Amino acid sequence: MKHVCVYCGSSGGENPGYVAMAGRLGSALAKRGIGLVFGGAGVGLMGAVADAALAGGGSACGIIPEAFANRVAHPGLTETHVVGSMAERKKLMFDLSDGFIALPGGLGTLDELSELLTWSQLGFHTKPCGLINQDGYYDSLLSFFDHAAATGFMHANHLELLLVSGDPEDLLDRMASYDPPIIDKWAKGSG
Ligand code: AMP
Repeated sequence: MKHVCVYCGSSGGENPGYVAMAGRLGSALAKRGIGLVFGGAGVGLMGAVADAALAGGGSACGIIPEAFANRVAHPGLTETHVVGSMAERKKLMFDLSDGFIALPGGLGTLDELSELLTWSQLGFHTKPCGLINQDGYYDSLLSFFDHAAATGFMHANHLELLLVSGDPEDLLDRMASYDPPIIDKWAKGSG
């Protein structure tokens, strides 16, 4: 992987451990020579992951809609793309990246992760998707996915499309050796 896109909160969260984890991920990317692609803001976990990637000698490419670029854009990125809409932004983030990681975040992060997994289950891409489930932050989302599979709204094998870890180094190792499962969304009995 040459570029990894990180989805994460535009807030930092109540617990300083979240900012620290974003920093660990940014440093791990830089150490491996993997460029960061992200939402382009200098605030919250987004700012923390970018600052750590840059401090570690890595690159950080931000993609930000013009509607809020002049209010929250990170001022020191390697590269910034200002785009016209959120849809355009998600497409460019996708095109520029070889893999994706979600850190803790809110609705924006959930939207980005959900769209990516939807494209993955439809077979539109086979890029690795990872989740940092820090201190069980995403336990209820993962339970929902199990529930969706158990009730027949999601193919159980599609749960394999998301690599889950509490540790950035472990997650990056697993993403680097990711072998995408071949699953037909439209096979009999699939959700
Ligand atoms: P949220 O999780 O709701 O804080 O939204 C964060 C995610 O949505 C990030 O991964 C960004 O790509 C995008 N996003 C939401 N708000 C902003 C913002 N103010 N600046 C840049 N990106 C944002």
